[in-house]
Amino acid sequence: MKISFHGAAGDVTGSCHLVEAAGRRVLVDCGLFQGSRELHEENAEAFGFEPRSIDFLLLTHAHLDHCGRIPLLSKRGFLGEVITTAASRDLARLVMLDSAHLQEEEARRRERAAARSGADESAEPLYGTVDALGSLDHFGRTAEYRKTLELAPGLRATFHDAGHILGSASILLEAEESGRQRSVVLSGDLGNAGRPLLRAPDPPATADAIVMETTYGDRLHRPLDSSVNELYQAIMGAFERGGNVIIPTFALERAQEILFYLREGVDTKRLPASMSVFLDSPMAISATEIFRRHPEACIASLLQEGKDPFAVPGLHLTRERADSVAINQTHGGAVIMAGNGMATGGRVLHHLKHNLWRPESEVIFVGFAAKGTLARQIIDGAKRVQVLGEQIPVRAGICTIGGFSAHADQAELLAWHAAIKGVQTTFLVHGEGKAMATFARKLPPSRIEIPLLHQQFNL
Ligand code: ZN
Repeated sequence: MKISFHGAAGDVTGSCHLVEAAGRRVLVDCGLFQGSRELHEENAEAFGFEPRSIDFLLLTHAHLDHCGRIPLLSKRGFLGEVITTAASRDLARLVMLDSAHLQEEEARRRERAAARSGADESAEPLYGTVDALGSLDHFGRTAEYRKTLELAPGLRATFHDAGHILGSASILLEAEESGRQRSVVLSGDLGNAGRPLLRAPDPPATADAIVMETTYGDRLHRPLDSSVNELYQAIMGAFERGGNVIIPTFALERAQEILFYLREGVDTKRLPASMSVFLDSPMAISATEIFRRHPEACIASLLQEGKDPFAVPGLHLTRERADSVAINQTHGGAVIMAGNGMATGGRVLHHLKHNLWRPESEVIFVGFAAKGTLARQIIDGAKRVQVLGEQIPVRAGICTIGGFSAHADQAELLAWHAAIKGVQTTFLVHGEGKAMATFARKLPPSRIEIPLLHQQFNL
């Protein structure tokens, strides 16, 4: 068995790992590199393997940094089978089509910029809608948690609930090669236990090797209860000052979880029923519908009781751009949730432009913000930031609430690792350098590797 790392190696995005075993080539995830502009080139580079040679692509979950290069893989000749859970399949379709649309827009923007500078360049998108639709044809069997799938003689895969977003999984691969059994579990992204919509991560009992994420390998989250309190206080503070609340959110999971807590806040009279809530993201609106369709993948009690966990009074779903722009007329008493979560693009930018300079408003960050992103600049205390080409002073209240993270913290990562017996080697991926180094020191003594991009190991 061999494993090589073609993304999220010393980095938090672009997850893509290749396992070669029992004569088959199995890719686990094929995500997009995200963050700064230059990454377009990084995404366009060769994968580090021949797409046509891949037999299976197992998808841990539908976040863009895990599924965002699947259409490119398909465009470049992949002919294998994609296997994932039913919920991940629905979400990945949404995410990949959205990404294709953004890639096409981005290409048009580059073409216009080239034309302005007198160059006659045509800018090819990384992939387009046709490629994203084409890649959906490769989605084959659906995986159920803890039900082992036979990929080929002597090669099995089992999906275990990762508790990170709807449908997310850690994937255990087991192979028999010349009478020798080897196994590796790839964590995918691991969730934060005790959240209202998802189950806790469910690690496999044993594995020879672990590939695990370390996004928060150096941090502990604050308890969820106090995070919910902080959220309510921050919202009430802004309302008392006469301002709005902007919550940059990723469309999957966090948006639904915040909706859940806003509804709870109103139900328990800790938030005013008169507040307006805007879910200003077509993708988050669609993701919320997918959530309702997949009670099997979440803690279903609310859905099974016939209650809508996301039914906040005063909720406006704004799919159309004109409705999104109209929100700018609301100067106070509104909670505006818009993408994307790291404020690197999307509708949240115009809400930030209209509210960051207002001391009465509040911006609440509820997720991870990678280095180099606008969200990170604001969190790190920038006094002025560039938003949609304008310098905007930061006068609004800024609040970062870590407890809503969809990622396990250091203690949870360690507990997940400790639950798996027989581990000889641990590969740390999907983390910034400091988080990985800190986490490596916390692990029990064993072989620990922090792979470089395209590095290969024998297992
Ligand atoms: Zn994720």
